[in-house]
Amino acid sequence: MTLIEKVINLATNLSVVHLVEFLLFTFSFFFVLNVLRKNNAKLLTIVFVLYSLVVAALSYMLDLPVYAVIILFAVFVLAVVMLFATEIKRDVWTRSIKGSDSKSWDHGAIRENAKECINEIIKAVQSMSKNNVGAIIILSNSNIPSGILDSGVQINSDISSALIESVFFPKTPLHDGAMVINGTKVQAAGCFLPLSQEINLPKDLGTRHRAGIGITETINVTAIIVSEETGVISIAHGGKLKRYADTELLKNTLKSFYWQDMIG
Ligand code: ATP
Ligand code: MG
Repeated sequence: MTLIEKVINLATNLSVVHLVEFLLFTFSFFFVLNVLRKNNAKLLTIVFVLYSLVVAALSYMLDLPVYAVIILFAVFVLAVVMLFATEIKRDVWTRSIKGSDSKSWDHGAIRENAKECINEIIKAVQSMSKNNVGAIIILSNSNIPSGILDSGVQINSDISSALIESVFFPKTPLHDGAMVINGTKVQAAGCFLPLSQEINLPKDLGTRHRAGIGITETINVTAIIVSEETGVISIAHGGKLKRYADTELLKNTLKSFYWQDMIG
């Protein structure tokens, strides 16, 4: 039977079961491809495409039943889900929050105030760094789960360096936990974040840094962390930490937050 005859034969004998199997197969294929592409896993993408070609060739030559092909394929799907569990979780979170909260930003207000907000945040962060005041600030665009906001105290005030510094001033009620900045407002403070479980973090990083990294592993936000012990400023994004952030890195991070995440 030629390939075309086979396809015609399959199309005419198409049952619901075949259709479901075909959809499952196609969905899994594009799901895996999408996860690999988003996470820049170039080598794995090549391996996956080659593997798919081998499975397709085998199934054609040996006339394997569809369920055998799906089983062969499921191995790869499972491996990718296990390898990229946190990245998939972050993606699902971001999608579900974007879908449920369609807060439309007042872009004019952001354009007008972004520069001032950036300056105030940098001023506060550098002053806390100089004075060894520990701090953790999350830059979000309405994508923080309400459970995290509810663990702290709602503030909803305009951003100013005085407000940020007074929140983190030692021994004040809100200095423990994270501040959430949402657009041009300080939304909440004293929030409890999920800690990163990564085992390869430098030993000198404690729970404040783990919390900053942890939140960015699961949600698409940026965390600015000031160390109480050393005064070092760090920036966490996508589960990765950049230490020793200077004015330029802070400025670029905040600019991309306001001009890309908020307006773009
Ligand atoms: P530092 O360099 O400032 O000492 P660190 O990474 O060593 O930071 P710790 O010394 O353990 O961390 O800092 C403890 C502080 O981190 C707590 O007082 C609290 O303010 C903050 N923190 C700890 N866990 C969390 C959490 N889950 N969510 C938010 N903030 C947290
Ligand atoms: Mg410490």
